[in-house]
Amino acid sequence: MATVEIDNLHKSYGALQVVHGVSMSFQDGEFIILVGPSGCGKSTLLRMIAGLEEITGGTVSIDGTVVNNLSPKERNIAMVFQNYALYPQMTVAQNMGFSLELSKVPKDQIATMVNETAEILGLTPLLDRKPSQLSGGQRQRVAMGRAIVRDPEVFLFDEPLSNLDANLRVKMRAEIKALHQRLGSTIVYVTHDQVEAMTMADRIVVLRAGRVEQIGTPLELYDNPQNMFVAGFLGSPA
Ligand code: ADP
Ligand code: MG
Repeated sequence: MATVEIDNLHKSYGALQVVHGVSMSFQDGEFIILVGPSGCGKSTLLRMIAGLEEITGGTVSIDGTVVNNLSPKERNIAMVFQNYALYPQMTVAQNMGFSLELSKVPKDQIATMVNETAEILGLTPLLDRKPSQLSGGQRQRVAMGRAIVRDPEVFLFDEPLSNLDANLRVKMRAEIKALHQRLGSTIVYVTHDQVEAMTMADRIVVLRAGRVEQIGTPLELYDNPQNMFVAGFLGSPA
């Protein structure tokens, strides 16, 4: 568990500025959802928090320490992507244990950690299967398992459900919420889906063209949107 603070964060790709001085802080154990239209900078922000993207200006802090110069691994953050490519030739267990193997964790310890994670996600009966033998929802669970097994301080999710069909999406929302309650971890979750934001978040950050429009609980944003953009985006009648 950890607090995450970003302060006056800027990002440019060459001459194109895509993040314009974004600041926000997340409490330990909070479920934060970043929403906004396609291209507004959600993935770029997540990648800067994760250490996967160079920061043009500003700072990212975890538990009060600036981590700008730390590698993704040193930040103890795990990210689950939209296109969670599992290794097709590896079993579920091998997929989940692979990053621990790279980190030279002893084999018996890896087995214990993978088994515990599989238990949490209901993957125990599937540990010997290959990804091609899994359903979409099961694959998504393995992708989450790869993150959970490292016991990270912070989870970053980048539109993890957008490739799933509508029914499965509803089911996985509930699973991710239950997982959050069980692990108590800080989660920063990106989506462009208003329903996902309103039903899952402790607090929502509404982004537009690389700037924060409003931050608040779903109820605060719904009852008191600061402008037409927020109202329109969240579907409020205001
Ligand atoms: P979102 O995730 O909200 O859809 P992104 O963070 O992916 O938005 O992108 C924000 C903006 O930055 C977009 O205009 C996108 O085209 C641009 N962008 C993203 N990645 C790169 C890159 N590697 N090089 C140049 N421009 C990029
Ligand atoms: Mg994106």
